[in-house]
Amino acid sequence: MYRKNLALVAHDNRKIDLIEWVEYNKDRLIKHKLVCTGTTGRMVEKATGIDVTTLKSGPLGGDQQMGALIAEGKIDILIFFWDPMQPQPHDVDVKALLRISSLYNIPTACNRSTADFLISSPLFESSYIPAPQSFDEYLNRPL
Ligand code: PGA
Repeated sequence: MYRKNLALVAHDNRKIDLIEWVEYNKDRLIKHKLVCTGTTGRMVEKATGIDVTTLKSGPLGGDQQMGALIAEGKIDILIFFWDPMQPQPHDVDVKALLRISSLYNIPTACNRSTADFLISSPLFESSYIPAPQSFDEYLNRPL
């Protein structure tokens, strides 16, 4: 069993959705390390009792901290329930986080069904190194 680093982020209108998903999948998720933006993390901890590492609140820099962790190779999977119905004051940070997860080829779920598929993949509990995204990474890939 490989312990993965999971990033969890949810906009306000999607937080209940995320908490229900975490609660439903608690037995599986508890074996991994969870990193959350501030408010999401506090709510997940309170509702499920799972220990999480909490960054700053998303609009106060938490999304950027999460992006930096991805760039440093410290996040394996991003579960990001962003709100498709309401503009966010930190929209640039939201876009930046989605951009960086795409750039670093991190599996990313933006809704519950994708999150379900993701954690039920056989790859979820095995070693998986995302394919290199640049020629330099390709040349330096672990063989
Ligand atoms: P929050 O941040 O968990 O602090 O609410 C989420 C976000 O809006 O990016």
